Amino acid sequence: MRVRPAMWSLRYASEIDGSLPEYLSPSSLSVFQRCPRQYQHSRVEGLRDPDTFFTIRGKIMHGILERLHNLPGAQRTHERARTFIEPSFADHLTDQSREDMMRAGKGGERELRSAVDRQLANYFLMEDPSKVRSEGVEREINENLGSVPVKGIIDRLDREPDGSLSIVDYKSGHMPRQDEVDSKVANTELYAGLVQAATGELPKRIRLFHTGHSAIIEHPVTPVAISKRIRGAEAAWDGIQKSYDRGDFVALPSKENCMWCPHQKTCKRNGVDVPY
Ligand code: SF4
Repeated sequence: MRVRPAMWSLRYASEIDGSLPEYLSPSSLSVFQRCPRQYQHSRVEGLRDPDTFFTIRGKIMHGILERLHNLPGAQRTHERARTFIEPSFADHLTDQSREDMMRAGKGGERELRSAVDRQLANYFLMEDPSKVRSEGVEREINENLGSVPVKGIIDRLDREPDGSLSIVDYKSGHMPRQDEVDSKVANTELYAGLVQAATGELPKRIRLFHTGHSAIIEHPVTPVAISKRIRGAEAAWDGIQKSYDRGDFVALPSKENCMWCPHQKTCKRNGVDVPY
């Protein structure tokens, strides 16, 4: 039997210190749906989400692949990609992020360099980037979906040989289990809704590139799924406004939710029974 997490709804003595964001993004939607209190801390109060080995690795891989795909197709070689490792490290391994990473204790710079080398080699086993035709790399789209202002930055929007569009999302973390795929893809489907709103064309599929495992998860996009995601975003946006007006974003502590949450100390200080 699945045990539901205890719901904490402690009111703060003072007003929430921060203003509501002007838009929802697929990642902030996931944070709110997982734990509204985490959304409050990171998106409303603006508490810093410290970096970890894993977040830095992801940013560095995104930086390398963004530079690679901004080159003309014939120049997208492994050798050329390797020349982007240092600039991407310079962008994302700052004094602050290095300090965060060391404090989190999951690996240091040497492990980070070998992980990036390995994931980049994996990437070249997954596709031949010289053949990719992209209509956008790190493309930002701002549109209203239903009643919600949504902003998304799409890793890649590819035009396939059959003329259809695909959304590509790079993932450097663990592969989802079969029963987790739908939930991992869920909010990525909002990117497809954004593309449709901006261009009038609905992408046909989402591809999750798991560079840690040389594996691609492909998921079809349907109008029914997009409508469902938009309804989910509207419900969350409404919940965010109401939580803010009440001065009370509900905390949902659970092992799964709190394990990677950077706001455990703040939460504990406010009386939430965080299981770590
Ligand atoms: S520590 Fe747990 S309960 Fe607190 S904000 Fe993070 S996920 Fe939510």
